[in-house]
Amino acid sequence: RAKSAGGNRFELADPEADARTITRHGLTTALPAALDRGEFFIEYQPLVRLGDGSVRGAEALVRWLHPQHGVLGPDRFIPLAEHTGLIVPLGRWVMEQSVRQAREWRERYGDGTEGPLRINVNLSPCQLTHPGLVQETVDILERTGVAPDALCLEVTESALIGADDDLLKPLRRLAEMGVDIALDDFGTGYSNLANLRRLPVSVLKLDRSFTQGMQQFPADPVDLKIVEGIVALAHSLDLAVTVEGVETGAQAEQLRTLGCDTAQGWYYARPGPPDRLHELALADATG
Ligand code: C2E
Ligand code: MG
Ligand code: MG
Ligand code: MG
Repeated sequence: RAKSAGGNRFELADPEADARTITRHGLTTALPAALDRGEFFIEYQPLVRLGDGSVRGAEALVRWLHPQHGVLGPDRFIPLAEHTGLIVPLGRWVMEQSVRQAREWRERYGDGTEGPLRINVNLSPCQLTHPGLVQETVDILERTGVAPDALCLEVTESALIGADDDLLKPLRRLAEMGVDIALDDFGTGYSNLANLRRLPVSVLKLDRSFTQGMQQFPADPVDLKIVEGIVALAHSLDLAVTVEGVETGAQAEQLRTLGCDTAQGWYYARPGPPDRLHELALADATG
């Protein structure tokens, strides 16, 4: 956003702008075939309980292995997929793959002492307005035999800004079935705290920008107060708090002291193939 504040000048002064435009167009036209050809894959990043360091589950993060450009991150193609509508079949594919993976984890580790590993799947705003969402989710859970409470759908705060009841209805139905709904990137939008009460969410995911404010030592006392306040509010509304972007042990300790429930970040593990989670969960079970 800082870059676009420079407006057209930035675009014209950037020698790579042309190449990027071509790539953007090229990527957009290549997207539908990429799904058919199986060029997408999913990396999983563990979510860890701050209390005892045990693995709570993992977030599914989609990537595109492009035949010419190599591995592309979601920021490169999710906006294009949203624009062209491919996000609906792509999102369905991600959900099916991820839930299958969750079933495999369950077959390996059973239900654990604190319940099965939970899989977090990101949902685009376009998927929320797609009429098939609830039925397709039910179908996937039934086909795989995975319990609804082993699935958490992440929706960004900005997707729900000013959401009317029609938009919230599918999320409410999913929440009633036992699927967890997380409010992703919380704190980046116009956080309407009063609005939280009407959203069918059970998890707040604090945006990485909060964690970054804690990187310096000593951490900014105002940042600490803000996080402390958000955690208190969330807990009083019966919401669990997850923090993203934890990169150091000091941050993890700080966030644990502030009462956050779970954490995710490079300090624990980068997103990776499902076997990496196997190793972590296994170390957990035996250690
Ligand atoms: P997100 O849901 O907020 O996911 C967290 C992002 O933070 C991921 O970026 C993850 O790799 C990154 N991250 C995790 N830990 C750290 C850390 O310690 N430090 C730093 N600097 N970054 C960390 P990624 O994988 O590039 O995904 C970007 C966004 O793309 C996601 O943000 C999500 O909004 C979207 N996305 C990813 N997969 C899907 C998908 O299947 N469907 C949809 N609709 N969106 C997706
Ligand atoms: Mg997310
Ligand atoms: Mg997030
Ligand atoms: Mg984020």
